[in-house]
Amino acid sequence: MKVFKFGGASVKNGDALKNVVKIIRRFEDRLFIVVSAMDKTTNCLEEVVKHLLARDEASFESSVRVVEEFHQTVLNDLALQDSEVLKQEIRDLFDALRKRYHTPISEHLGFEYDQIVSLGEVLSSKILAQVLLTEKVAAQWLDARQLIRTDNHYKEGNVDWDKTTEKIQFKIEQFPDKLCFVSQGFIGHTSEGFTTTLGREGSDYSAAIIAYALTAEDVTIWKDVPGMLNADPKYFSNTQLLKSISYKEAIELAYFGASVIHPKTVKPLQNKNIKLYIKSFLNPESDGTVIQHEQIRDQLIPSFIVKKNQILLSISANDFSFINEEALSKVFERFYSNAIKINLMQNSALNFSTLVDADKVDMGKLIELFKPEFSCKYNENVELITIRHYTPEIVADLVAGRTILLEQRSRQTARFVLSK
Ligand code: ASP
Ligand code: MG
Repeated sequence: MKVFKFGGASVKNGDALKNVVKIIRRFEDRLFIVVSAMDKTTNCLEEVVKHLLARDEASFESSVRVVEEFHQTVLNDLALQDSEVLKQEIRDLFDALRKRYHTPISEHLGFEYDQIVSLGEVLSSKILAQVLLTEKVAAQWLDARQLIRTDNHYKEGNVDWDKTTEKIQFKIEQFPDKLCFVSQGFIGHTSEGFTTTLGREGSDYSAAIIAYALTAEDVTIWKDVPGMLNADPKYFSNTQLLKSISYKEAIELAYFGASVIHPKTVKPLQNKNIKLYIKSFLNPESDGTVIQHEQIRDQLIPSFIVKKNQILLSISANDFSFINEEALSKVFERFYSNAIKINLMQNSALNFSTLVDADKVDMGKLIELFKPEFSCKYNENVELITIRHYTPEIVADLVAGRTILLEQRSRQTARFVLSK
């Protein structure tokens, strides 16, 4: 079995879905297809959740309509055969979504979020399965909420690997003559049967979980880029394709912010020595990137990762005490329990400096978190640049004329916090 993951851009409309079918047809292997929500559906569903929680019925209804009309347009464009059952199912899904407005809201907001936002993948996978059937590919739709078991940590479920493996293997064994399975990325379920999500952009991770459970031959993530590049073409010209890199290098790049794969994707694959390909759905014949076992030497060409719109936050104790282990453990606890991700950290005797994504925090609330013992100073709109396999020349070139607020270097990696 091979596992393929198609992201939101690869299934964004009728033509894109037909292109996916073309790619699938190129392979004669048994395939397990993991699909994300179409285009920006997840963002639109986040709007639905926002209006539901704000008890704004008119905005709730109009945001639901945006998602519904988008999917109806795709369905109309596709003109699928025998799609009455599917169309009715989709109407039922939207009816159920609308009803949520009138059912009591759980005090656990993450629970509400997951029940609603998961709809995007359910819709895209049902539509893709029907497109495949219309194109005479014998596809079997599977519900990821019967396959991937997580704990009750809503918005970022932790996978129960044993249960998940057991469930996936059991399910696949029930369809010995099916060649192609279609399921959802991003979602799982709790032991009580509630839907959970695995964190934004989590469909790559779903593909890795399924591959792990099935000890798949390999995984391919189909993207709108030719593979993993050494820099984002949005910010750099002359980017190079990383043809073959190790699991370790891929994890480091993803951790530093390379957005090509979700950072959690590599570990399950490394654990079972399953190769990960990143290929272009626009150019499926090209080789793309392969991420595999170390023995094959990494191409140590410099890679650049840019994270814009960062906040540099500097935390210090109000009574002039040291930022020692005790103080740090308090500071970390507050980051952790409020699910705030730290992109970089550094400390001195009196200060603990961190970088956080501006669009994921509310500065007022963040400062409150550290009161009363600590106070915070911050710089907004700073940029974090990470260079893997840097050389002095490259660094000099990159920071020329910029103000460096903070820097860190190890043997392989140099990181700079630069003001605008
Ligand atoms: N649809 C989800 C998101 O946009 C998961 C994914 O695309 O990987 O975050
Ligand atoms: Mg997506």
